[in-house]
Amino acid sequence: MEAEYDVIILGGGAAGLSAGLYTGRAMMKTLILESIGSGGQLLITDEIENYPGFTHGVKGQELAMIMDQQTGRFGAEIEYTEVEGVDDLEKPVKVVHTYDRDYTASRLIIATGGAHNKLGNPGEDQFAGRGVSYCAVCDGNFFRGEDVVVIGGGDSALDEAYYLSGIVNSVTIIHRRDELRATKILQERAFADPKTKFLWSHVVEEFTGNEVLEAARVKNLKTEEIYDYPVAAAFIYVGFHPNTEYLKGKVVMDPLGHIETDVRMRTSVPGIYACGDARAESTRQLGAAVGDGITAALSAYHDHSA
Ligand code: NAP
Repeated sequence: MEAEYDVIILGGGAAGLSAGLYTGRAMMKTLILESIGSGGQLLITDEIENYPGFTHGVKGQELAMIMDQQTGRFGAEIEYTEVEGVDDLEKPVKVVHTYDRDYTASRLIIATGGAHNKLGNPGEDQFAGRGVSYCAVCDGNFFRGEDVVVIGGGDSALDEAYYLSGIVNSVTIIHRRDELRATKILQERAFADPKTKFLWSHVVEEFTGNEVLEAARVKNLKTEEIYDYPVAAAFIYVGFHPNTEYLKGKVVMDPLGHIETDVRMRTSVPGIYACGDARAESTRQLGAAVGDGITAALSAYHDHSA
């Protein structure tokens, strides 16, 4: 049996689109399988200031559209569908299952990225979509002029708090320590913002309300005091996990499910490459995802032609 495609790229975020640009341009018959929309996390990112080439930054959705069109120009096909599994990875013709059909290719590039972690607290699922959110760019507008909280102390939390402060009345960042993990420049911007407040050394024990979220029940870890902090919305940014469940046991991963690669983005299985947030040691930066995608594509091309 001959494979339908030279390469299938699983995931159409920044890493996958960059890989597709290179494989398409190298005249490899390329298919990109994307579950939500071309651009992946770019679609839920407001302003991007640290991607080279844009003096004054660029909106995530705008960059996603440009990348999608540029990749499309060189012939990569994109299908919007959910990958359910992969088989025959060791064979010359590898199979990708989606909910409605199977696709085959001689090379696979894994670029399925990841998703924000949940807190796992009582009320989190109950109020999801009714005050609890993992996407400020998608849901921030519903809370225009209101008081909201952001949970977490990393780059994501501070980036999204900054975006929200332009829309809402106030943003309180709830962080479990009294020191942020986020990079210095984001910290300084948050400290200088009059609409951003901090609840240091606090955790959210529960989300409460009736029809919609009304309060975060918080605990001061230093005093042990527990009290309700009234909020219209809670945006959760407590880390990130890779979308690699469908590959479990098929390629070597670290204990958290990131795929191990060498510097050429080759995984433990010949002909299978991984790039972007799904791979181990990723710096989780847009520029790095683009670089990973390009490296994976070049490796797939060279191995294919060898
Ligand atoms: P992160 O750096 O892992 O930060 C997660 C934050 O959530 C930490 O402050 C952590 O607290 C807190 N946290 C974790 N579990 C928690 C829990 N159960 N309860 C309360 N708090 C909890 O994740 P991230 O912010 O999503 O960033 C991930 C990566 O993406 C980083 O490498 C980051 O640099 C990158 N990134 C970069 C940008 C940018 O360049 N602008 C934007 C977004 C993300 P502790 O600090 O106490 O551990």
